Amino acid sequence: MSNKAIYKNHTNITGETIDVSRRQKRYFELAKNIAYNSSYNRLRHGAVLVKGGSVINASCNKDNFSSFGTRFRGPDMGHGTHHAELGSIVGIARSVTSGSDVYVCRVNKQEQFRSSKPCKMCHDVLKHVGVKRVYYTTDNGNVKMYKL
Ligand SMILES: [Zn+2]
Repeated sequence: MSNKAIYKNHTNITGETIDVSRRQKRYFELAKNIAYNSSYNRLRHGAVLVKGGSVINASCNKDNFSSFGTRFRGPDMGHGTHHAELGSIVGIARSVTSGSDVYVCRVNKQEQFRSSKPCKMCHDVLKHVGVKRVYYTTDNGNVKMYKL
């Protein structure tokens, strides 16, 4: 798939593995359900925006361009598509995204979580709008977290 390079363009940041609470597990279940709405067959991502214990928004990745995301990409990188993390924050007031957390997952056809570390574009966007922490699924079923 042509978008592979985009997804592989990660930051050097590696989150630390954490134990998820029951509440956080629910966020990932929600992200998973949302991910199944993705128009991509093999790269189904879901992201949930949470603040103060409340789910603010949720989105899957979509097969269209994001002008907002593209602004955060290098000039040589072309347009950014609508990644799940972008969808979770676009249209949400900065006062809300500031201090929030994002839970992002990828699911495969066997309904297993797979690595979903945010790409550089999403990392920069989330940081820009004041997101505090990113939680993401890994290939071995764990959850990693890092602070922006
Ligand atoms: Zn991304």
